[in-house]
Amino acid sequence: MNKKKMVLSDDEIPRQWYNIQADLPNPVPPPLNPATGQPITPDMLSPVFPMNLIEQEVSTERWIDIPDEVLEKLLIWRPTPLHRAYELERMLKTPARIYFKNEGVSPAGSHKPNTAIAQAYYNKIFGIKRIATETGAGQWGSALSFACNQFGLQCKVYMVRISYNQKPYRKMLMETWGAQCVPSPSPDTNAGRKFLSQNPEHPGSLGISISEAIEDAVTSKDTRYSLGSVLNHVLLHQTIIGLEAQKQLALINEYPDIIIGCAGGGSNFSGLSLPFVRDKINGKNVQIIAAEPTSCPTLTKGPYIYDFGDTAETTPLLAMHSLGHAFVPAPIHAGGLRYHGMAPIVSRLFVDGLIEARAYTQLQTFSAGITFARTEGFVPAPETNHAIACAIEEANKAKQEGKEKVILLNWSGHGIIDLAAYDAYLSGKLEDSPMTEDEVQKLKQDLSKFPIPK
Ligand SMILES: *Cc1c(COP(=O)(O)O)cnc(C)c1O
Repeated sequence: MNKKKMVLSDDEIPRQWYNIQADLPNPVPPPLNPATGQPITPDMLSPVFPMNLIEQEVSTERWIDIPDEVLEKLLIWRPTPLHRAYELERMLKTPARIYFKNEGVSPAGSHKPNTAIAQAYYNKIFGIKRIATETGAGQWGSALSFACNQFGLQCKVYMVRISYNQKPYRKMLMETWGAQCVPSPSPDTNAGRKFLSQNPEHPGSLGISISEAIEDAVTSKDTRYSLGSVLNHVLLHQTIIGLEAQKQLALINEYPDIIIGCAGGGSNFSGLSLPFVRDKINGKNVQIIAAEPTSCPTLTKGPYIYDFGDTAETTPLLAMHSLGHAFVPAPIHAGGLRYHGMAPIVSRLFVDGLIEARAYTQLQTFSAGITFARTEGFVPAPETNHAIACAIEEANKAKQEGKEKVILLNWSGHGIIDLAAYDAYLSGKLEDSPMTEDEVQKLKQDLSKFPIPK
């Protein structure tokens, strides 16, 4: 019988995270203080993050031990299965072998708890009692709520008001895990009150929610802020995905020709691919592709610049591909991919030609998601559909070329809480809203004043 699932036992879970900063051909340029243009120092970040996570952020140790307390929590759902997508292959009549790493089996339904658990742990042992964060569509807020609950920390989530109203189930999940979730802008912070005084029905934005969460963290006792993607330590925590996948593929003597992940801030893409990027740096021939929306084409259209991580200009300047911190992407259903920037590590790898990027329209991605649901059964998250669209494209190419390619994709999450988006697609109400060439040109002009990383 052909193996359908490659499963590792609890005691085969990886014991260390892989830190690509030890192996990058060109290091990531340091974050800059926007006021002085000078690199920021760790102590400048200490009101926002606990020092143990700041140390991880700047570490160049290749392997970092996963603490036992973190492993114990990860074992709730890890190691996650690696599936062979036989039915999808049959339907596509492709000679390619397609594998997907199922991150949808976590309690919150995505890869995000991998870092939420680690961050909650490091905050806890640093003596922090409470974490404040923001969330757009609610996936990060729910992952962190789960993680804080596991470690007995309080959690407050500022959720973009329009999503809070449109997507009540994520809020319900957060409250089920004991977190407090408020619509943002909220009356609880100076930033929130300012926007509410302009408009009591303000729909909110991720930028406003970030400002509220950071203000909360730096002004409340024993509180820190937490971010679910983009930063180096977040990508580090996610590498457990790729390290497991390497063991699972070795069980069946496979090695991927093509690795695919969807990319919003870049954490699930990195989680799967960074251990393989290491192989590539050491001479392996493997193609690694980030899949993004045409309505938020950060890698495929955005320049490599120093930009703020948030709309409200509260963060240091990060060296990254960016569409500009003022960019507001079209309201596509893949809310987790609507971020103007890209992780500095992913951006650097892209500049250095170690990874590629492709963009897909909303309709292409939902068509791919439906194909997946009707072959493999699992309903993917709208974000995940971007990786699936890319995998189907590559499988069709393998068919044309008559090549037995091995394709590995990160199945970043399930779409059971996103069924309204599938309903819109199935009833013909979904639209494409790619950035136009005019918009791209205007954007490049607006961004021409940003500093260029060396
Ligand atoms: C948040 C999210 C993403 C995008 O975030 P990354 O940091 O780019 O991984 C992708 N897929 C799912 C299911 C998500 O919840």
